[in-house]
Amino acid sequence: MTTLPEIPFARPSISDRERAAVLDVLSRPVLAHGPECKGFESDFQSWLGAGSTLATSSCMAALHISCMNLGFGPGQEVLVPALTHVATVHAVEWTGATPVFVDCDPATGNVTVEGLEAARTAKTRGVVLVHFIGIPCALDGILGWADEHGIKVVEDCALAMGTRWQGRHAGTWGDFGCFSFYPVKQITTAEGGMLSGRDSERMKAAGLLRAFGVDRSHSEREFPGYYDVTALGLNYRMSELQAVLGRVQLSRLPEFLAARLRNAETWKRELAGRDDLRILESLSPDATSSWYCLVVALSPRLRPRRNEIVLNLKSAGIGTSIYYPNPVPRMQYYREKYGYDAGRYPNAIAVSDGSIALPLGPHIGEPEVVRCATALKKAIQEVGA
Ligand SMILES: *Cc1c(COP(=O)(O)O)cnc(C)c1O
Repeated sequence: MTTLPEIPFARPSISDRERAAVLDVLSRPVLAHGPECKGFESDFQSWLGAGSTLATSSCMAALHISCMNLGFGPGQEVLVPALTHVATVHAVEWTGATPVFVDCDPATGNVTVEGLEAARTAKTRGVVLVHFIGIPCALDGILGWADEHGIKVVEDCALAMGTRWQGRHAGTWGDFGCFSFYPVKQITTAEGGMLSGRDSERMKAAGLLRAFGVDRSHSEREFPGYYDVTALGLNYRMSELQAVLGRVQLSRLPEFLAARLRNAETWKRELAGRDDLRILESLSPDATSSWYCLVVALSPRLRPRRNEIVLNLKSAGIGTSIYYPNPVPRMQYYREKYGYDAGRYPNAIAVSDGSIALPLGPHIGEPEVVRCATALKKAIQEVGA
């Protein structure tokens, strides 16, 4: 019997072009804050088509700078989704502001205006939106609501490169957009991120925070080695090696996104008409997803068997994941600090405990998606619920 190759949940796509570009930078004298970083920022800005950009060491760094720049702090509340990566919430927590968790819409995994409005108090200063697995939040409505109440908006676009709402990129709607280039995201720089912002004064201040609060770059120093420090900054810069990797990856993004869309369509065809699971997506004509992965929510009857199904897929050589394994308020740090009331996040809990994230990245094509879908259907049948 021949065993079929494993299908990992996700895998970065690095070609000879990336390898050659990184080696080339290694043979140059400038390894940090040089031309590749500037070039990556301007390539990214052209791709977004709005605002300006700053390359950072990670998405969490971009989120942290955003929250600092917007002045979040003690005594203030910032709304965050319960269903997200912990980085979204840590960025708020580091400023001293209180994160207030909001449940999601079960159809999309995203927060809604109704959910945000229900959590708003006189202390609410901001919201960090997350486009869950690349599904866009209903941005026009949310931005209108935020403007009405003087609430600042940060978009966590870590899984949302290629996500659009009404044709306009995620990350260009709020005060800031934060992208991730962690290995399994739409493009990678190994570790890295990008901050986008529409207000040039805020972006200038964010640039200070990214680099120790130093008031001038090397090229701006008339007297060699002299600078002053005007803000309590951090070192959240990206290296030249990462930036050049990012530039080549960005040039391949259309190819990656097209492969993701094709795979999503194959998945939908293969799972059509089933009443025991539901694919999370936005059916709005305004929505374009980046299709980070395929999340299926199991029916209430199958939910208790989720882990068996996952292990069954694992033994069939199919990699899966969970987005996210716990709603953030259930993570120990937040549970202990703020207390945990399960009744407040029923939809986020249903996704965490009753869904499976399946592969659909450019590392696979139609035959692999069909194999995964067949294995999923078989696994469901075998648990016999
Ligand atoms: C991956 C991820 C992050 C963290 O990104 P890093 O670049 O690793 O800091 C933040 N938010 C979301 C929604 C993510 O999926």
